Amino acid sequence: MKEKISFESLCVKEYQRNESTKPHQLPIYATSSFEFESLDQGIDIFTGKETGHSYSRYGNPTVDTVASKLAKMEAFGTDLEPYGFLTSSGMSAISTLMLSTLKQGDKVLTQSNLYGGTTELFNKVLTQLGIEPIFINMKDHDAIQQHIESDTAIKMIYIETPANPTMACIDIKWLAEYANSKNVLTAIDNTFCTPIIQQPLSLGIDFVVHSTTKYINGHGNSIAGIIIGHRTDYHKKIWSTLKLIGSNCNPWDAWLINNGVKTLALRMERHSSNAQTLAEHLESHSKIGTVNYNGLTSHPDHQLAKSQMNNFGGMLSFEIKTGMEGALKFMNKLKFCSLAPTLGDVDTLVLHPATSSHLNVDREIREANGISDGLIRVSVGIESIEDIWNDIEQGL
Ligand SMILES: *Cc1c(COP(=O)(O)O)cnc(C)c1O
Repeated sequence: MKEKISFESLCVKEYQRNESTKPHQLPIYATSSFEFESLDQGIDIFTGKETGHSYSRYGNPTVDTVASKLAKMEAFGTDLEPYGFLTSSGMSAISTLMLSTLKQGDKVLTQSNLYGGTTELFNKVLTQLGIEPIFINMKDHDAIQQHIESDTAIKMIYIETPANPTMACIDIKWLAEYANSKNVLTAIDNTFCTPIIQQPLSLGIDFVVHSTTKYINGHGNSIAGIIIGHRTDYHKKIWSTLKLIGSNCNPWDAWLINNGVKTLALRMERHSSNAQTLAEHLESHSKIGTVNYNGLTSHPDHQLAKSQMNNFGGMLSFEIKTGMEGALKFMNKLKFCSLAPTLGDVDTLVLHPATSSHLNVDREIREANGISDGLIRVSVGIESIEDIWNDIEQGL
């Protein structure tokens, strides 16, 4: 090989590529920047005249491919033209969305049984910026109307349905229609359902966020999130905020999501059927009080869930009648199920909210939200339901 450059330079420079055909699987573009063919092209890309990549915080082929796919899934079957931005975590999807849509003096109307991190984000971070959360019962339509009609500073309604850990549901369609008529933005955390079970954009919601860490990836090997929207008036704002605060997802995590999401349809079907069977077994067990699963006709929101969800998902919780003592004994007896503070993985995960996710929540508030000392939350996996039930039954 006759090289005109020195050996040291040969070490440093990118060598000519060996790609002769299109890769069948999405490659990981582990590059911080992208070369321009010419200065003119660089200028065109920077000014948005030509689409293309320049710097991976602004966009990266692996990350953008996965973001577009997830956005398409959320808007599937609608005429909407969705966009998606993958972020470094579910929390960064929520914070980036809030910073893109709200400003000092604005208020967010939301529920008291949000994901714990989101409640803390609202209380500790957004309040510091002069954005105030108002926590109410989102099932109470009169209360929602009273707040919106008496306080023009409320610029967004933010919800989670079904909500952890009692699977309480909120009427998405009613809320979206009402908020739209009052020019109030709406956003929903759709982590528990994924777009295969619930499609809030089709019901009129403006923005969907996910912790892709959970069901969308499904394999518990990456932390990431996504913001999905369709309103053109916010597209650029969100992208601009994301790139400036640097809450972008990295290509490796995006690639893991891409692997996981390929089996989403199969997984959600199995999560749901396993959870339904488990819920029915639990409901007829003598040591169990309430079982919270949207697929049970005994769940107070069963009809609402049925009207806005295609299936009931893999999340449930149940109450051990013997309270704290019984719950701790049960947790320590489990052998097959894992004790892990996450959800949505392919294997079954069990959590005791009173001593983990809700440890720092006052007992009164906790109990008002249905989280008693004996409550156990299960993220039902896709293993054989016999193995899951045998373990839980021996634990009881
Ligand atoms: C886990 C979770 C989040 C936060 O997501 P991270 O990826 O951990 O940042 C937000 N909302 C819900 C419903 C979650 O379960």
